[in-house]
Amino acid sequence: MSSKAIRIHAHGGPEVLSWEDVPTPEPGPGEVLLHHEAIGLNYIDVYFRNGLYKISSLPATIGMEGAGTIWAVGPGVTGLAAGDRVAYAGGPIGAYATERVIAADRVVRLPDEIDFTTAAAMMLQGMTAQYLIRRTYRVRAGETILVHAAAGGVGLILCQWAKHLGVRVLGVVSTEEKAEVARAHGAADVIVGNADIADQVRKLTQGAMVPVVYDSVGRETFMSSLDCLAPLGLMVSYGNASGPVPPFELAVLAAKGSLYVTRPTLATYIASRQDLLAVANDLFDVVLTGAVQIRVNQTFKLADAAAAHQALEARRTTGSTVLIP
Ligand code: NDP
Repeated sequence: MSSKAIRIHAHGGPEVLSWEDVPTPEPGPGEVLLHHEAIGLNYIDVYFRNGLYKISSLPATIGMEGAGTIWAVGPGVTGLAAGDRVAYAGGPIGAYATERVIAADRVVRLPDEIDFTTAAAMMLQGMTAQYLIRRTYRVRAGETILVHAAAGGVGLILCQWAKHLGVRVLGVVSTEEKAEVARAHGAADVIVGNADIADQVRKLTQGAMVPVVYDSVGRETFMSSLDCLAPLGLMVSYGNASGPVPPFELAVLAAKGSLYVTRPTLATYIASRQDLLAVANDLFDVVLTGAVQIRVNQTFKLADAAAAHQALEARRTTGSTVLIP
């Protein structure tokens, strides 16, 4: 049997994404064969494509998130069967394919009310939002927080979820149009552009600054994000959309008020099956009650993944983007 997949034979621009015939894999012990109905597009796919994150052997199929139907289970798999509706997010790469095999303990069953497209749009970005505001820094009602790329995939979920918890969100975006989108999804105030973020945060907080900054932009905003923190504040640097954060003097953290910095990744927070289920269930709850709405604002055919990457990198997307096989 054969499947279709987007493969890369070398790192590079969107043009290295190639739509190819591949053999349909067989599920090994502890694995399931999953037929994808929808695949999530994430910024991490860009890093794996362009080589910022290394892939051990090429050619390879990128992609970290999908939803679909189990076609077959390998030896030793219990509790899952052909026909089950499931979704997953996280490594190993391999999601940009009509079918893939994946460890059974990495997939979660989908509630009936959540369709495949929504699932593929929400698992990676939504579980990220969950751990960022529930574990990395547990936000509390009445607090004010700063969220970069507030109209993006993770951003829109973070804004809605934090507001639902009684938090005031200050968002940062690049255009007025995106500011509108962020405001419509829970951001109380939105800063447009990177020029004077700390000054604007000072005004918006009457000088108090914020206890936590969620910064996924990286190189361009890291230092100004530190300036937005109150003493003892936590800098959460969780992405590199503008490039990786360069090395910096640790003593800067003392001078700016005994700050903390963390560089978290979803993989750590869902490493155990127990944590994966807890994070996923927390996400399902806020989606099912409507507290968080998943915005699939762009859909592409999987074969057109290159166009999807171009849109994401050119900052033309808002909310989540899904690839349909
Ligand atoms: P987004 O939908 O947020 O897209 C990225 C956004 O980043 C853009 O829309 C843009 O918004 C902003 N941006 C700022 N500077 C640049 C730049 N130079 N080039 C491109 N975009 C830029 O993507 P995702 O929701 O998929 O991911 C958001 C971020 O979170 C990424 O950095 C990703 O790597 C990170 N992430 C980290 C995880 C973790 O566990 N550590 C897990 C999931 C995501 P604007 O135009 O408004 O500035």
